[in-house]
Amino acid sequence: MSIVTRFAPSPTGALHLGHAHAALLANTLARRAGGRFLLRLEDIDPGRCRPEYAAGIEEDLAWLGLRWDGPVRVQSRHFPDYAAALERLAGRGLLYPCFCTRADISREVAQAAHAPQASHARHAPDGVPLYPGTCRMLAPNERAARIAGGMRYAVRLDIARALAAVPEKLVFDEGGVLHPCDPARFGDVVLARKDAPASYHLCVTHDDAVQGVSLVTRGEDLRPATDLHRLLQTLMGWPAPRYIHHKLLTDASGRRLAKRDRAASLRDLRAQGLTAAEVRALAGFPD
Ligand code: GLU
Repeated sequence: MSIVTRFAPSPTGALHLGHAHAALLANTLARRAGGRFLLRLEDIDPGRCRPEYAAGIEEDLAWLGLRWDGPVRVQSRHFPDYAAALERLAGRGLLYPCFCTRADISREVAQAAHAPQASHARHAPDGVPLYPGTCRMLAPNERAARIAGGMRYAVRLDIARALAAVPEKLVFDEGGVLHPCDPARFGDVVLARKDAPASYHLCVTHDDAVQGVSLVTRGEDLRPATDLHRLLQTLMGWPAPRYIHHKLLTDASGRRLAKRDRAASLRDLRAQGLTAAEVRALAGFPD
């Protein structure tokens, strides 16, 4: 079976050397195997994504010498597809609407921390406070009344029910080694946001499935998310890709590169007169 990889940046800023490393890795693995390399723009966050960043990403990658197969998939053009996936999960009773604000959740979490049976983990691996389940307990008529009253809501996965609906033990394959998954660490994760009809976890697994991505390469910061992604894939009957979580590039002081570090942006390196070959080498892929 031919290998399909992808680079899936969010257009929330300029690409830096770390992105170049990720894109070059995905491209190299695909090309070496005679497979396909795809580009996907994960632009569902209306507050942070900008069209000019999206245009910049394509330009920077082309300058770097990368060519992707087929058209770029732009997530914000596929909201109906994500809604359909949510419907399937909702039909199995695995979702519920959550009306809480961030402040509500912080308050509840702080109160729960004082309770005698307080659990140790207060945050999901991505740093989001673990949801205490307030809206999971709402009576159906209360839910209906709030929705009819126009209250905005996010949609959460009932993680306990979701895990109960999955018969087998979840694992992910990295380099032929099967790693056990622990998606419960995410609690009742948000699958559709108040300000966007989908969430990263839903869209990324949906798109990897519909695009036939067979090898997901991404930074090791996303390794915990893979546990949750395997749960969603199993619930939805989507295939399990193989995974590679690569090291994140750091600056001279050992800090992980971020979009705010302008010095390492591909744009600035190019403006400083570096050639694409030099930048590829800096990103760990000498010609
Ligand atoms: N869009 C995500 C990011 O820019 C990457 C998603 C992924 O590779 O799974 O961090």
